[in-house]
Amino acid sequence: MHVFACGLMTETNTFAPFPTGLADYIVRRPSDPIVNRQGSDYGNAIDVWYQECQKRGWSFSMGLFAFAQPAGITPRPVYEALRDEMLADLQAAMPVDIVLLSLHGSMIADGYDDCETDMVDRVRHIVGPQVLIGAEFDLHSDLTDQLMEQADAIVLYKEYPHTDIADRAVDLFNLMADAHAGKIKPTMACFDCRMLGMYLTPHQPMRRFVDEMTAREGHDGVLSLSLFHTFPWADVPSAGVKMLAITDNDPVLAQQVAEEFGRKFFSLRHALLFNSLPMNEALDKALANPNGPVVIADQADNAGGGAPSDSTFVLRELLRRGVEKTAVALLWDPIAVQVAIATGEGATLDVRLGGKMGPMSGDPLDLRVTVTKIVTEMVQTWPQGNNPPLVIPLGDSVALHCQGIDIVVNSRRSQVFGPTAFSNAGIDPTQKRLLIVKSTQHFYAGFEPIASEIIYMSAPGAIAPRFAEIPFARVDKRKFPWLDDPFAD
Ligand SMILES: [Zn+2]
Repeated sequence: MHVFACGLMTETNTFAPFPTGLADYIVRRPSDPIVNRQGSDYGNAIDVWYQECQKRGWSFSMGLFAFAQPAGITPRPVYEALRDEMLADLQAAMPVDIVLLSLHGSMIADGYDDCETDMVDRVRHIVGPQVLIGAEFDLHSDLTDQLMEQADAIVLYKEYPHTDIADRAVDLFNLMADAHAGKIKPTMACFDCRMLGMYLTPHQPMRRFVDEMTAREGHDGVLSLSLFHTFPWADVPSAGVKMLAITDNDPVLAQQVAEEFGRKFFSLRHALLFNSLPMNEALDKALANPNGPVVIADQADNAGGGAPSDSTFVLRELLRRGVEKTAVALLWDPIAVQVAIATGEGATLDVRLGGKMGPMSGDPLDLRVTVTKIVTEMVQTWPQGNNPPLVIPLGDSVALHCQGIDIVVNSRRSQVFGPTAFSNAGIDPTQKRLLIVKSTQHFYAGFEPIASEIIYMSAPGAIAPRFAEIPFARVDKRKFPWLDDPFAD
């Protein structure tokens, strides 16, 4: 038995002010050690599959795995070079029995609206019709008919924040192993929910919906259920929420269950709208809470959604209000980092901070700051359920202090995944009144245990969560929120 695993993933924001280039991809090659890699990022599905093979005494080959922090469209030569290297690894590993792919589901390259469909097609072409192909996707993904034709099974993360990447990797592995043993025949069907939005799984009614999906799996021939949330800042025709059901060799049941859950999700569409407060309302609410730390998510400048992570709107307002005992992370400004490092720890300097990458970053701030900490090749950890935390590289970073506010400035773009984004820069987040984190939702699992309150904020910025205002040209808008009931006609 021979399993081959590989992956190429990023989430593409077609409105982002800069592309996703080759240097943005963290690449693992087959020659790299299999487990415990620094900067392992999202690649732990590959580690999980390796370990599952070890348990069974199966042979395992790894192909290229590459992940990039979300930004704009990947240039065609970059995508084709990484893809072709990955496919050459597969070719070299042949013959194989099962191919497992760790993909995102909303990667777009110049000339490729749907990279995942392209990759799965090419993998199928190499391995032929008999070999099983299973893919694990991020839930911020789109589903195409062609993907369903060429893959044997697709399993998505169910949780946002994505705390279940490893668990879903095990689910996919077990499905493929059972299918190879002839115990099951995975059969997929999907239902188009005709919606577009963003859905946070710790909160009701989303929590209940996810739990209902999980409870249904493994019963009456239903093998797996996944909700494609879509990624709402990708202007491609395939964008939109879809419900996927996998049954054991029963296409009619798969269609019925996909529709049942898809319609249930659609019926929740109004209750699922989350309340992201305008900037001043969010700050007023936070400052009214006498207990700290109040965590405010600057959702509109989340690097994880392709925003620059250098917007200055909130920091400017905090300074204007004279708010103290506050910390802000992560502001992406490699030039400011370089200047601060050259000046040295403990030094005071004038610096032009943020507001550099696009019109939605706001104007830069000219500030007198003190360098309180310099960290070479800083990392943050992403606590994910019970699994070992992922290690996210941030590049050389500094902590700057200005008028009662600590600002973590980094040189490798990333959203905030947990409190180590502060503590690794010498700032104790538990001692602050306010913590501003540039993230939509992945901060949540790490900060929930220490926060007195969590506030979602929709400040000005590149990806403010106001979906009906996104200037789509190619997305079919016969969907909620543009239509209240797109099923009516
Ligand atoms: Zn995601």
